[in-house]
Amino acid sequence: MAVEPRQLSDRLRAVRARIAEACARVRRDPAEVRLMAVIKTQPPEAVALAASLGLTLFGENRVQEAELKRPAVEALLADAPARLASPLEWHLIGPLQSNKAARAAALFQVVQTLDRPELIQRLDRLQQARMRESPGLTPLPVMLEINLAREPQKHGAAPDMAPALADSALACSGLRLCGLMTVPPDLPADQARPYFAQLRELSGKLRETRGLNHQPWDLSMGMSHDFEAAIEEGATLVRLGTALFGPRE
Ligand SMILES: *Cc1c(COP(=O)(O)O)cnc(C)c1O
Repeated sequence: MAVEPRQLSDRLRAVRARIAEACARVRRDPAEVRLMAVIKTQPPEAVALAASLGLTLFGENRVQEAELKRPAVEALLADAPARLASPLEWHLIGPLQSNKAARAAALFQVVQTLDRPELIQRLDRLQQARMRESPGLTPLPVMLEINLAREPQKHGAAPDMAPALADSALACSGLRLCGLMTVPPDLPADQARPYFAQLRELSGKLRETRGLNHQPWDLSMGMSHDFEAAIEEGATLVRLGTALFGPRE
């Protein structure tokens, strides 16, 4: 069952209130926290509905799913472009296989899940080629995904690899490093909190030592069950699926 308009707008209002309360607890400006709708398994109609309610940032886990869904969403919205708050932004938040890097570069505004040197090099080469073909194109914004607890079943680089990966991304003229992303162990929010603090500290050190303090930068952390803790620890982009669309089938 796709989400009903009333349900989605009620949940969106509740989520925005919880974001504002979490910000108030730590004296942050709610404008510093962007809300991403995670649309894996959601039909195009649900995404178009979310866009019509003012959401502009969408996260998809799979290249192939986004390839099918994005044109369908755009077709649904073609009648109502004037009502959109601003252009939609699509981020890849699931693992990227090297053989899909070209499709990802063409499809997403941001790839949040770089976690190994070969993938960085490959995406850089592809984007440089795209930039040569289309002189208006700019470097592709990318984030490093960090596997803080080194969970073997999860993607993401070990935290001690982050400086080397950041340096290789920073050396790429086809890429623009714009933040760190993490999916911490699946624990209650209070127990996930130290991981959020750890990502903030890692990020602070990287930015300081690489002179990135004045560049656009995101800390992408926090999901439906733990986003308030993530915001209290410094998240600038929270990724919510269930809290907006309800349980996935
Ligand atoms: C599915 C997913 C989310 C959203 O999860 P919810 O618990 O439904 O909010 C966020 N980030 C990533 C990387 C995901 O795969």
